[in-house]
Amino acid sequence: MADSKSNSADPTGPGQAAHTKAVAKRRARPGRSRLSRAEIAALYGRLRAANPEPKGELEYLNPYTLLIAVVLSAQATDAGVNRATRPLFAIADTPQKMLALGEPGVKEAIRSLGFFNTKTKSVLTLSRMLVEQYGGEVPRDRQALEALPGVGRKTASVVLNTAFGEPAIAVDTHVFRVSNRTGLAPGATADDVTDILERVTPAEFKLHAHHWLILHGRYVCVARKPKCPACVIADICRFKEKTQPAGRLSV
Ligand code: SF4
Repeated sequence: MADSKSNSADPTGPGQAAHTKAVAKRRARPGRSRLSRAEIAALYGRLRAANPEPKGELEYLNPYTLLIAVVLSAQATDAGVNRATRPLFAIADTPQKMLALGEPGVKEAIRSLGFFNTKTKSVLTLSRMLVEQYGGEVPRDRQALEALPGVGRKTASVVLNTAFGEPAIAVDTHVFRVSNRTGLAPGATADDVTDILERVTPAEFKLHAHHWLILHGRYVCVARKPKCPACVIADICRFKEKTQPAGRLSV
């Protein structure tokens, strides 16, 4: 679930920025309607009723190991990251211990993950920055988090939400898909969807919104063949290509 840095600055000036925005708007699934406030509350209410205390699936021991796990999860499954980090975190659960392992030690531990060379560099550089700038602690501050290598808006949101209990909503591929299909927060980019989710999600659901949506996308509203007949929000969802129960033909 790690992310690349988002770049909101537009070097080409305001005219080009307006054009880019217009193009993005056109790409944002034309004709897809948004849910009403009442429907949004009902959608979250159903997800909450089905899973009152949702939990993420990345394993971690403290804010530092959560940050590392999220950085390692780019282009990797949570299960794959957990297999690599279980033995790693057993010997290195602080930035100081991670630095003591050095490049060969970290590389060997995460060799099974994609982009392990780049990830090793990110892990060691961010660990060094945490030691030098924050006394080895993970800062509870979005700007400071996003200044670390391999950490963008999404990763910072996961850490702020999961480690520090802040109502930040991170948008990964699953959250993006569910938000667009249902009409909860249709948007052309992850940043668009994040902005809309932050605006439309009622305060009472903000803390767990990320986990409800990610788990729904991972297990029910899956990419290829969503399990619409078993979906608790099917009657609210605006997706036009819902799947039918086995043996029933759509008309
Ligand atoms: S009804 Fe289908 S498309 Fe809509 S949220 Fe549920 S699983 Fe996804």
